[in-house]
Amino acid sequence: MKEAMFYEKLGDSKVKCNLCRHHCMINEGKNGICRVRQNRGGTLCSLVYRKLISENSDPIEKKPLFHFYPGSTALSVATAGCNFRCMNCQNYDISQLPKDQDQIVGKDTAPEKIVEDTIHHHCKSIAYTYTEPTIFFEYAYEIAKIASQKSIKNVFVTNGYITREALATIKPYLHAANIDLKSFSGETYKKICGARLEEVLDCIRSYKEMGIWIEITTLVIPEMNDSASELRQIAEFIRSVGPEIPWHVSRFYPQYRLMEKPPTPVETLRMARDIGLESGLRYVYEGNVPGEGGENTYCYTCKTALIKRYGYQIIENNVVNARCPSCDTAIDGAGI
Ligand code: SF4
Repeated sequence: MKEAMFYEKLGDSKVKCNLCRHHCMINEGKNGICRVRQNRGGTLCSLVYRKLISENSDPIEKKPLFHFYPGSTALSVATAGCNFRCMNCQNYDISQLPKDQDQIVGKDTAPEKIVEDTIHHHCKSIAYTYTEPTIFFEYAYEIAKIASQKSIKNVFVTNGYITREALATIKPYLHAANIDLKSFSGETYKKICGARLEEVLDCIRSYKEMGIWIEITTLVIPEMNDSASELRQIAEFIRSVGPEIPWHVSRFYPQYRLMEKPPTPVETLRMARDIGLESGLRYVYEGNVPGEGGENTYCYTCKTALIKRYGYQIIENNVVNARCPSCDTAIDGAGI
């Protein structure tokens, strides 16, 4: 059993976990909200260390990261568990396993083996994804340190709830993140995910302040977060953090406990993209709608099509030395 990082002993064998912004107070023998950190006799333990539940080589575009080594692949890894309980989770079978089935399963896999697999599959990076990487921090941290020694990049695909303290610890080895910004309503965050909007906003700012490349994803759900005013609030917030941050507005399909909503109309995504661009964002992408044209990267100065995509595939990449070949504007990102 791996002793957890980021916790305080409070007396009476009680502990406070400071890994994510829930800051769970956990009595002896009990688990935190994520159900994968347990207080054992006054010591907080990670129950998922080395318990690999998923490993695949994915295009980096699938994360989605469009401005981070485009066209490369990322070895994508996960353990069971999550600190959110989103009603529309796409990976609920593994993220909610500890809560829904009271089970933590996974194949015992050493951090070194993950790095070896990354090299074997010729991946540029390791993506900690599918479930929430924050809750398997100790495992991700060990893998990321070893990977960095081999010049492999590390990326989080995250709900944006890690504490500043934990983020600062992994920062030297963490090169990029795609962060969900699910809504701009505190009420929706509470209802859908059991989380606080203000904490997510502060977390996004902390990634940016620490110099980690970030892209933001908003899954646009009909009658939940699809009003022009809410989309504008999200776009303006991202603009205030940095106009260079790509915003992915993705199409919702009925999932898990949110089966009664219809898929997002393509026109709504188009509206969201227009709002993002009007708000001053340089790059806005429509996700889950292959072939609609909203996945391409355009130069934000002269509008030349720079990277043409179909789904996760790059059809054409015209960027030269991270610049637009037509007007010489620098294109934001890493390895682009
Ligand atoms: S990581 Fe888990 S135990 Fe720790 S504060 Fe977050 S939900 Fe609670």
